[in-house]
Amino acid sequence: MYKKPLSLHLLVCLFLGLYCSKSEDFIIHHQVSGPGETNSYLLYTVKSKKAALFDVGGRIDTLVSIINDENLDLKYIFITHAHPDHVYGIAAIMEKYPKAKIGISGEEYEDTDLYARWEEALDSALVAAVKESPPEILDMMNFDFEALGEPGITLEDDQILKLGDLRIRTFLSPGHSRGSICFYVGDALFSGDVLFYRQVGRTDLPQSGGPEEIVKSVHRLYSSLSDKTKVYPGHGLFTDIGTEKLENEEVRVESVSLQN
Ligand SMILES: [Zn+2]
Repeated sequence: MYKKPLSLHLLVCLFLGLYCSKSEDFIIHHQVSGPGETNSYLLYTVKSKKAALFDVGGRIDTLVSIINDENLDLKYIFITHAHPDHVYGIAAIMEKYPKAKIGISGEEYEDTDLYARWEEALDSALVAAVKESPPEILDMMNFDFEALGEPGITLEDDQILKLGDLRIRTFLSPGHSRGSICFYVGDALFSGDVLFYRQVGRTDLPQSGGPEEIVKSVHRLYSSLSDKTKVYPGHGLFTDIGTEKLENEEVRVESVSLQN
C-alpha cells in the first residue's frame, strides 16, 4: 500500500525529538476605515473558517464581503482600545453579526464614560480643534458608546483566547490609554495605538499613562515576542518587532542581535 512520505515538518520534529503541533493556518486582511483612517483587520482560520475583527473604525465593506464570500464564522470583535476612531463602525457590524462577541479590556470599558464626555475630558485647545474639524470627525467623536452594549468578553492581561485551533494571547499595554490591549497570534501582533511604524502612540490624552508607561509597554512586547513578529498597528504602515527595535526613535534597543 502506498505510504505517504513524512512531511518535512514532521521529520524536523522527530529529529529534534520534540512534539510540535503545526497550528492552523490563518489569513489577515486589512482595510483603512472611517474618518480616523483606522486600520481594521480581519483574521480567519483557513480550515475552520473562524474569524475575528480587530477594531472597526468605520465602514469595512471589503472585510464584510470577505466574511460573507468565505462564509466565515465571526466569533469576536476585538477592541484594542475604545477611542472613537477604533469603535465607530462597530454598531453596524453587530447588527450584521449579532452572535459575534465584543472583547475589550475591563479598564478600557470603564473609561468609555470618560471618552463620551470628551468636551470635559480633553484640554481646551484640543476641544477647540475637534470642534473645527470636518463634520464626520465630530460625528465620530460623539459616538454613542451605549451601542457597544455589555462586552461579550472582558479581557485581561496574558489571557489566551481560542479561534479554531489558533491561540490569541493578550498583552495589556497601558500608555496610550489605560486599558489598551495588544493581541498576539501566530507570528502577528495587532498593536492598536501602542506601537506604530517608527513611533509609539500619543500619551497626552485622558487616561493616557504618559511616555514612560508606553515605553515600558513596548519594551515588554520587544522582550516577549520574536523579532520576526509582524506588527499590524491601529494606523499607518505595518512593521515588525526586530526593525522597530533598531529604527524606532522613541523605543529603541541600543544593542540588539536579531533573533530568529
Ligand atoms: Zn487611540
